[in-house]
Amino acid sequence: MPKDHNMETPLHPATQMIHTGLDRSPFGELSEPIYLTQSFAYPSAEAAEARFKGEDDGFVYARYGNPTLKTFEQRIAALEGAEDAFATASGMAAVNAALMSQVEAGDHVVASRALFGSCLYIIENLLPRFGVETTLVDGGDLDQWRAATRPETKAVFVETPSNPTLEIIDLAAVCEIAHGVGARVVVDNVFATPVFQRPLKLGADVVIYSATKHIDGQGRCLGGVVLGSKRFIRDTLEPYMKHTGAALSPFNAWVLLKGLETLHLRVRAQAASAAQLADDVAAHPAVIRAIYPGRADHPQHELVKKQMTGYGTVLSFEVTGGQAGAFRFMNALNVILISNNLGDAKSIVTHPATTTHQRLTQDQRDALNVTDGLIRLSVGLEDADDLCRDLLNALGEV
Ligand SMILES: *Cc1c(COP(=O)(O)O)cnc(C)c1O
Repeated sequence: MPKDHNMETPLHPATQMIHTGLDRSPFGELSEPIYLTQSFAYPSAEAAEARFKGEDDGFVYARYGNPTLKTFEQRIAALEGAEDAFATASGMAAVNAALMSQVEAGDHVVASRALFGSCLYIIENLLPRFGVETTLVDGGDLDQWRAATRPETKAVFVETPSNPTLEIIDLAAVCEIAHGVGARVVVDNVFATPVFQRPLKLGADVVIYSATKHIDGQGRCLGGVVLGSKRFIRDTLEPYMKHTGAALSPFNAWVLLKGLETLHLRVRAQAASAAQLADDVAAHPAVIRAIYPGRADHPQHELVKKQMTGYGTVLSFEVTGGQAGAFRFMNALNVILISNNLGDAKSIVTHPATTTHQRLTQDQRDALNVTDGLIRLSVGLEDADDLCRDLLNALGEV
């Protein structure tokens, strides 16, 4: 925090992302240092004893605490409006820990069906192996949430907007239903980004990010974070993380916390381009439907406006000609790359049916509307006119 800051006027998020969490060393470095250390030396045996007893909150071992990670955690917690945060080695480590740390055999978990593939694997395959029953629902259908939740429901897991069809789930309504049976709501907020959606404000209990996506935003390293109340993070999540080991490296934490400095600028610029490109592709005759939460023809546009302050950096669209049409389009792109990442400075197209959603059965893909002509586009930081020309040119090849 700047020294002369008057705490009566809260700083705006963009300012907090530049300053929060930096606890300068005696050198007074301007930029955040990387503390590439596994362990910490104690001034005396008594000090070591006190540290292990938890009588002071200094660091013990980098598997569960390191100054560079702490800077990252405090900064993202400030953006999210969370009491506390715990950094993890990847987004999946965050999802796994957020769920596994709070359930035991006999518990029940409900999740929306349209999930990132590995999240679906945890819900459908892993949790049941340990005696946790799981139910998948169509996230947009509140009656299904009501029917699925019951007194044993310990946690509810939601991703909105969903991947890749950008369906929106009413977070406030799902939280009310879940809280009615005493379940915790865990939100995977990757697609919305912390800039455009604040699940904790809408009633959620825990938020997770794959920091690999927009928080890094430049394709360099994996990382994740779990955010929530001090009680959840320290009493439930920390013991699980401490003893299972998916710790983020201090170097990667440094990359990610520097990413937070530019997150607002990047995400807003990417979303502005995404909005323009969604309109450009929607008007093209080779496009059957364009899906972008910011478009008035998005089926849940009213809900989008209620719970999001921006519309995200990803759009999807279906081209004519099925898989062959989609492949002709992708192979004709010059600037936009074919990859499966998102949130990057580089614009990326993905063909979900043959890559990220390949593992699913045809029935599952049908249920999610992942058709053979569907393309997901993660809009980067290139000039929007160049992206538009690239897209329209390639659509001409469909
Ligand atoms: C990428 C992603 C994850 C997993 O994150 P990793 O950092 O790749 O482990 C989880 N959820 C969503 C929505 C994602 O996009």
